Amino acid sequence: MSSISEAGVVTAVDKELFIGGKWVPAADGKTFPVLDPSTGETLCEVADASPADGVSALDAAVAAQADWANVAPRERGEILRRAYELLIKRADELALLMTLEMGKPLAESKGEITYAAEFFRWFAEEAVRIDGGYAVAPNGTGRFLVTKQPVGPCLLITPWNFPMAMGTRKIGPAVAAGCTMVIKPAAQTPLSMLALAAILAEAGLPEGVLNVLTTSDSGGVMEPLIRDGRARKLSFTGSTGVGRKLLEQCADKVLRTSMELGGNAPFLVFEDADLDAAIEGAMTAKMRNIGEACTAANRFYVQRGVVEEFSRRLTERMEALPMGRGTEEGVVVGPLIDEGAVEKVSGLVSDATERGARVLTGGSAVDGPGNFYQATVLTDVPKDARLASEEIFGPVAPITPFDSEDEAIAAANDTEFGLVSYVYTSDLKRALRVSERLEAGMIGLNQGLVSNPAAPFGGIKQSGLGREGGTVGIDEFLETKYIAVAL
Ligand code: NAP
Repeated sequence: MSSISEAGVVTAVDKELFIGGKWVPAADGKTFPVLDPSTGETLCEVADASPADGVSALDAAVAAQADWANVAPRERGEILRRAYELLIKRADELALLMTLEMGKPLAESKGEITYAAEFFRWFAEEAVRIDGGYAVAPNGTGRFLVTKQPVGPCLLITPWNFPMAMGTRKIGPAVAAGCTMVIKPAAQTPLSMLALAAILAEAGLPEGVLNVLTTSDSGGVMEPLIRDGRARKLSFTGSTGVGRKLLEQCADKVLRTSMELGGNAPFLVFEDADLDAAIEGAMTAKMRNIGEACTAANRFYVQRGVVEEFSRRLTERMEALPMGRGTEEGVVVGPLIDEGAVEKVSGLVSDATERGARVLTGGSAVDGPGNFYQATVLTDVPKDARLASEEIFGPVAPITPFDSEDEAIAAANDTEFGLVSYVYTSDLKRALRVSERLEAGMIGLNQGLVSNPAAPFGGIKQSGLGREGGTVGIDEFLETKYIAVAL
């Protein structure tokens, strides 16, 4: 790592828009700053796309669609495979770039680069497995041919918390399926996506297949593209509030949608659980990405007989976590993304303590520079505390005791969200019973991490629509066509 300088990785990134295979400035020449959340300093300026640039990007994606859909699946897969190799080869410098713009510790950024690359490896393999069917009609006189075709040009919108992986999780299946794209990364973390676009171009992705818009006006640039009608799909990862708004916009031209939205994960620990494993899982589920993950454990429900020991041990682990700039050796708790995030976490903790929660460790923001909040454990958190119903998106673990299985399940399901739930128990029957009753698209059963490119990731209720990854991930970018054959 020592050979890679911070300034060097930032300088190396193209900071213009990537449209039709070319790096171009915004038509009006505007730029906006990218900040380092651990210092508040400006890292660099990137092009600030206007609605007119958006239309140019969509034009390029539409123009490239027909030829791209005809590229052999094997060739599409091999482009992804080459991009996978390049991501792995450059993991150290890409991790440093990510840490600078997003704040998470270097080890976690490197983990994300590997995770992101794995989506390309997975979908390189899936590109050649798009299937179809041939069947005899029930009345025996005709035949059914079923084939799958790319949806068409897609709009992709990604959040700041996983700046690379949320992109590859969409770009991988879109490339494999033969769709062209316009992607808009979060304004706070555009550099990872710009670096990724350069890697895909180097891997041989044809001009116009991927177009990247960085902008400080996400709504102003994307709404006209959604309403244009030429793009046939929107795949969005972000908050439920923005997702709802985008679904309304998509209704106009009936776009296909994939929605990976917010979470409010419950983490259930039963008295029969392996407590060592539960503490390890809790640390992962809570502290991965400094708590800024849609899968982050948001509410800990712990059975009365073990709640004291669980709380004490979790507190010991949380107070031992080194805090600092993500580039420093050994740091686990990096900065939150911005001042607003620190204010939100502070407000949720104050609300909980005013309603009777006790602070076991942490509980305060840290003076700047940078947007730091202490790793925090709260206990006796009442069920009506705001953090029981809102995403915390920070390093705060609220613990509430429960007595019965029914009570725990009712509390866990008492949310509009349904992304992931975690369950710790050593009783096989209980594990399956509880997993089936929890209202979530994913269950972490005796483990604190569910994300895996080979598994279907996604939520139910207001956590989203559709799945990313796994064997179903490519279906989000394919249309099924049935040909009725007369014999
Ligand atoms: P966000 O505010 O919803 O933003 C997500 C993306 O949408 C950003 O690129 C943002 O651009 C863009 N955006 C915002 N308003 C828009 C509009 N009116 N039209 C078009 N685009 C718009 O969410 P975030 O704060 O970046 O990310 C955190 C949220 O994402 C959390 O709720 C988290 O749970 C969720 N998330 C879900 C998953 C999942 O797989 N389910 C994964 C990761 C994160 P700007 O940056 O310019 O605002």
